[in-house]
Amino acid sequence: MKCSYCNRKAIYYQRHSGKHLCRKHFINDFEKRVRYAIKKYKMIESGDKIAIALSGGKDSVALAFALNRLYGKRKDVEFVAITIDEGIEGYRPPTVKIARKITSQLGIEHHVVSFKENFGMTLDEMVKLGDKKPCTYCGVFRKYLLNKTARQLGATKLATGHNLDDETQTILLNFLQADIERLARLVPQRVQKGLIIRIKPFREVYEKEVVIYNLLFGLPMDMNECPYSHFPVRAAVRDFLYDFENKYPGRKFSVMRSFEALIPCLKELYPQIDLNACEKCGEPTPKRVCQACVLLEELEKAKGKSMQMSK
Ligand SMILES: [Zn+2]
Ligand SMILES: [Zn+2]
Repeated sequence: MKCSYCNRKAIYYQRHSGKHLCRKHFINDFEKRVRYAIKKYKMIESGDKIAIALSGGKDSVALAFALNRLYGKRKDVEFVAITIDEGIEGYRPPTVKIARKITSQLGIEHHVVSFKENFGMTLDEMVKLGDKKPCTYCGVFRKYLLNKTARQLGATKLATGHNLDDETQTILLNFLQADIERLARLVPQRVQKGLIIRIKPFREVYEKEVVIYNLLFGLPMDMNECPYSHFPVRAAVRDFLYDFENKYPGRKFSVMRSFEALIPCLKELYPQIDLNACEKCGEPTPKRVCQACVLLEELEKAKGKSMQMSK
């Protein structure tokens, strides 16, 4: 099969557009949609210092690579990468290695920040001590460290590798769970003191296109899933969307466009609350004490108890 734009051999059939794409035109199309999303939401502007949340997984590796290709030559935009090491034995070390490799290849300044150094324990240890689900600890502490580190590095934005599949899953999931307040939190934020604005440059590209982009550039890819990952409802939504997209190509874009059409209403329904500085650590929070400090206090109590028991 030939490319729809030139005489070269097609390597990808883009079902939602009905186009066959060669290597060159696949990359063109992919990067065009990344640029489109960036412009549409003013994700990257002159003077920005972008912190890339680089887990070392396929999405964030592709993100670092693509941003460097698209904006690396610009003198008025700067990049830095942050990897959070939660301390998940067997799973995290290889991705930290990938993150180090890709940032040194691209010449991007890289910071690895660990749960152990910052909270005195790894995620593995937290899971053993506490009664919450692993993803609760991971989600709260990872977000906390990403925001804090990005701010300390003087970043103006924090870029994550969420793709069209991730975003549409979250949108639909919030609908199905009647959690419209959470849906409203997906709306691009306004500037608040201490909180770094999050951007998602891959929100207009499919997950499988990210994989192909990685393959075409020979980027390192770790396809392992986190051993703690357990989201049965999300998995059901993911499978439904996959089947639906298969039957009716392009519907993930429809989900995204519907959500975008609702943004003005969501903003009105749930205006972003003003944040305070946490009484304990000073990080931004809608409450008096931030969620990270609450969880950490619980964990430290549990740790004290378990140490007494072992005496
Ligand atoms: Zn072509
Ligand atoms: Zn706090």
